Amino acid sequence: MRPARALIDLHALRHNYLLARARHGGRALAVIKANAYGHGAIACAKALSGVADGFAVAFLDEALSLRAAGIQHPILLLEGVFDTDELDAVMREQLWIVVHHAAQIDMVERTPASQPLHVWLKINTGMNRAGFLPEQAPAAWQRLHDSGRVASCTLMTHFARADEPDVLSTTDQIAVFDDATRHLPGPRSLANSSAVLGWQAAHRDWARPGILLYGADPLPAADNGLRPVMTLQSQVMAVRDIPAGAALGYGGRFVAERATRVGLVAMGYADGYPRTVPDGTPVAVDGHPTCLIGRVSMDMLTIDLTDVPGCGIGSTVELWGAQVPVNRIASAAGTIAYELLCNVKRVRFEYQG
Ligand SMILES: *Cc1c(COP(=O)(O)O)cnc(C)c1O
Repeated sequence: MRPARALIDLHALRHNYLLARARHGGRALAVIKANAYGHGAIACAKALSGVADGFAVAFLDEALSLRAAGIQHPILLLEGVFDTDELDAVMREQLWIVVHHAAQIDMVERTPASQPLHVWLKINTGMNRAGFLPEQAPAAWQRLHDSGRVASCTLMTHFARADEPDVLSTTDQIAVFDDATRHLPGPRSLANSSAVLGWQAAHRDWARPGILLYGADPLPAADNGLRPVMTLQSQVMAVRDIPAGAALGYGGRFVAERATRVGLVAMGYADGYPRTVPDGTPVAVDGHPTCLIGRVSMDMLTIDLTDVPGCGIGSTVELWGAQVPVNRIASAAGTIAYELLCNVKRVRFEYQG
């Protein structure tokens, strides 16, 4: 069997969730959109079901598959509904919805209420992506209230730059939020992962941690005690010696400066390992640090075994995990850990804990 696999440590997932909720106080929705950032939404929801206050996903279908798997917790749709049919499903399945633009209030008003709705009213406090302008918030709240269909309304916003500890726009966003909601009742929710870890002033009734649950610290300069959940791993399947001056792989990008022992690893960009990383990107072989050499191809990649003579065919290769932080690979690839984790596919998923 091809040895490429993603090991998912569900103990670590629970640890990270509980750490986030303790740091924030109040309650926390575990954000498991995009198949739990590539980790498997149903398995993660089940693993968190004994501890989590609720879950958040992006849209209806993600929530329906959790309900079909028996998850009965509150589930918030972060994009809300796209049409009134979806609103029927929301009522039937007792889902919670974000309302972030006026057409969604129209839908609430038009739909006969079979069940009271739990709404999270999203206010744009400076990210300028989704949400009502601060000055529109009271009127939006009033329309929802007057619709007679809304049982509860939580007030929320989302930060653009909470992962940058020295940038003051987060402080500005908090002030805009407080000002816009001063006369509105209801619970508040501001903090994503980086605000849970880095912005105490954003801690209110509900946190919405995503990436931190998976142990990829959005503020890695501080040691926040998160544990990596995914280990992306494979094995050396063949070994070859190349002389100094030989080129390796597509494009001949890597040219050996010395006689080099090359390990061929069953992992490629079709598995979600990024093609864009340069020579020298870290990997761990049987626990020893070494590096990638040559371009990543679709099904395979190559690593330098010259200085780890004890390693060979069958040696375990960690692409990311406890020894190789996924943040390191993300920065080598010019992206963020979120994107790498979401992209993992084709490998076997094995759950522990
Ligand atoms: C995805 C998302 C989150 C989680 O963000 P992280 O940075 O992964 O913690 C929180 N809130 C909203 C509205 C989101 O869309």
